Amino acid sequence: SRLVAVSFRRLALLFLTFVCLSERARGPAYLMILPKLRRLESMMKKVERKQIEKLRNVGISAHIDSGKTTLAERILLYCGRIHKAREVRGKDGGATMDSGAIEKRRGITIESAVTRVDWNGHAINLIDTPGHVDFTVEVERSLRVLDGAVLVLCSVGGVQSQSLTVDRQMKRYNVPRIAFINKMDRMGANPERVIQQMRERLRTNAVAIQVPIGVGSDFEGVVDLVENRAIYFDGDQGEAVRYADVPDHLKGFVSAARAEMIQQLALLDDRIMSAWMNEEEPDVEIVRNVVRSATLARQLTPVLMGSAVKNKGVQAVLDAVIEYLPAPNDREIYANDHGEKSDQTALVRLEPDSDRSVVAMAFKTVLLKFGQLTFMRVYQGTIQKGENLLNVRTGKKVRFGRLARIHADARHEIEAATAGDIIGVVGIDCASGDTFTSDRLQVALEGIYVPKPVVQVSIAAVDRNKADALGRALERFRREDPTFRVSTDPRTGETLIAGMGQLHLEVYVERIAEEFECLCTIGKPQVAYKERPSCSVEFAHRFKKMTGGPGQFAEIEGRMEPIPVDDDVSIDFFNSPLQFESTVVGGRVEDRYIAAAKKGFADGLGKGYLGGFESFGVRVVLENGSQHKNDSSDIAFRKCAQQALRDVILPKSRVRLWEPIMRVEVEAPADFQGVIAAHLVKLRGMVIGSEVEDGTIVIVAEVPLAEMFGYSDAIRTMTQGNGSFSMEISTYRETPQNIEERVLAELAK
Ligand code: GDP
Repeated sequence: SRLVAVSFRRLALLFLTFVCLSERARGPAYLMILPKLRRLESMMKKVERKQIEKLRNVGISAHIDSGKTTLAERILLYCGRIHKAREVRGKDGGATMDSGAIEKRRGITIESAVTRVDWNGHAINLIDTPGHVDFTVEVERSLRVLDGAVLVLCSVGGVQSQSLTVDRQMKRYNVPRIAFINKMDRMGANPERVIQQMRERLRTNAVAIQVPIGVGSDFEGVVDLVENRAIYFDGDQGEAVRYADVPDHLKGFVSAARAEMIQQLALLDDRIMSAWMNEEEPDVEIVRNVVRSATLARQLTPVLMGSAVKNKGVQAVLDAVIEYLPAPNDREIYANDHGEKSDQTALVRLEPDSDRSVVAMAFKTVLLKFGQLTFMRVYQGTIQKGENLLNVRTGKKVRFGRLARIHADARHEIEAATAGDIIGVVGIDCASGDTFTSDRLQVALEGIYVPKPVVQVSIAAVDRNKADALGRALERFRREDPTFRVSTDPRTGETLIAGMGQLHLEVYVERIAEEFECLCTIGKPQVAYKERPSCSVEFAHRFKKMTGGPGQFAEIEGRMEPIPVDDDVSIDFFNSPLQFESTVVGGRVEDRYIAAAKKGFADGLGKGYLGGFESFGVRVVLENGSQHKNDSSDIAFRKCAQQALRDVILPKSRVRLWEPIMRVEVEAPADFQGVIAAHLVKLRGMVIGSEVEDGTIVIVAEVPLAEMFGYSDAIRTMTQGNGSFSMEISTYRETPQNIEERVLAELAK
């Protein structure tokens, strides 16, 4: 109906223009009709706004095994997308949200699939958020396009290590969320403890807006503290929601819990505060509004509870999504201005208005039999089927021939998509992260935080005739995932793939086998070290070649110095190889030659010196130079800089190897604390924090990545299968001399 409204309004506008232009209409008739048309237009605009208010783009995020897939499955059931809930990893092919075969096998969701459901007159795009940190970029992308999230937690396990990592990412994107404490039917379910953990570990203002009716095997339903009523889920599959009075035996408990909630809300709103001070019941409508506005402002995380597997509480989650999570027009979204006049740092606010120029971002691409399916969020404007849009990155126009609404595996073709929506585009060629716009609007939604790969392995097809398929596969994944890199080892000529962790790369190897029917062997995982000179060097270098025609002269002079590394330096620092400055007296060397020399330095620093690793933190100041009237060229200056670096500067600058240091979080039964900590120290790790709670220990440590290979096996053995861990890149440190020697000796073999 939103589309109808839009089209109708467009028609009305067109008519208005026609009337204005027509000579004959410049009479009383025109004057009469004009205000009517204006009123019609503003009415239609209102209808459109109402429609966008009824849209939710929501991610579900969780630690593995909290029941995210089961919850998603139940949501599809109650929203009428499927007719029977299927058991996760059951005989009939498993849950609908996990569409990749490998995901089923590994039991984790790698690809963020989108599913559209309808609930209570609202449309919800469910965006699946991968829980495993090795797929950080997928998580980042999905967080970029969603407006709110449901955090699923286990009533027994509580806040586990992966929730912490995803939480950090959510903070970066200011994603408002609600929490669902699942598995209330389990023995030992303890929602208060989970809420306490959320407050302590996630530092979020978690407030229960429900309490359970019974726990463990007695779990029957929930009491909604906002509306002050009990909710039961009747029928074979919990499909019949029944509201009732709070049961007598729970009245005391419920009123205490409600008082606690009101007290928390009073801190956020004056109206509730004054009701509370006067010992009056605040208006339910006000309570609801405050929960919503505080959630949107990220001052509050409302907590719900239930049991997905026992079909209890899921519909209330859907109601809460609509009640408390933002619509696209509740959020402020900015894009980077890439227009000609812009300095590339200006931000442009995007308005979820269907009349504006289109701005849309591809956040995921998958290769299907018929071509590429691109998941896209429309931030602004309306995409019509058949329209040509500009890919801001490539500068090329692309025809959007087929638009589709996605439901896990099924697709329904649509004619147009408007601001705020998430759709699939069939058959266009682009990379994930690309922004598309109409007209001359040059903005991009980049700025997605992209971590650099830290692990690499060599890869080769078992069957040499399949090298082509391997090449295609790697090209495909490289485009989909910016944290996945492909290169050639300059020494051995082998193909290298690099990514965010062992699991990340293993998943791609499996996908190559399954999707491209190409079995591969991989080498030993290698750390992506970095290199950095440790002392300054002055240089003066002349490049001159007598043979081979003109343009072979260049001369440069200056100094190279390592930039000091502060303790609190950001990770980006390690990803920028070169700071370049020229103090050459005006005119001595043409600007373009100076730029060419800069390129030469950057080339050389990219290739590395000790072990072929990228350098970082290098400052080059070009102080002097000379050029030849006829015989200088860009190439000559570029080569001159490369040579100076390789032959003069780096050999004298005591280049050292730097290694990635991971922030590792281990979680296990407290008995194992001593063993785990001692083992971490053996891995050259430094324990920076540990916390015991209810028999569970969480240890946070900084450990060199080189020592972390095989840690999942180690932790399993050490804890008899009861421990888990997660890690992400934290910083880089200079590698100890003996380790450096060992690494370089290994490379030289
Ligand atoms: P995911 O890894 O977060 O997607 O979790 P799954 O949905 O795959 O669930 C993990 C396991 O927990 C499965 O064996 C589910 O059957 C089980 N599970 C899911 N929800 C519940 C629940 O409400 N109660 C109990 N007891 N088990 C559940």
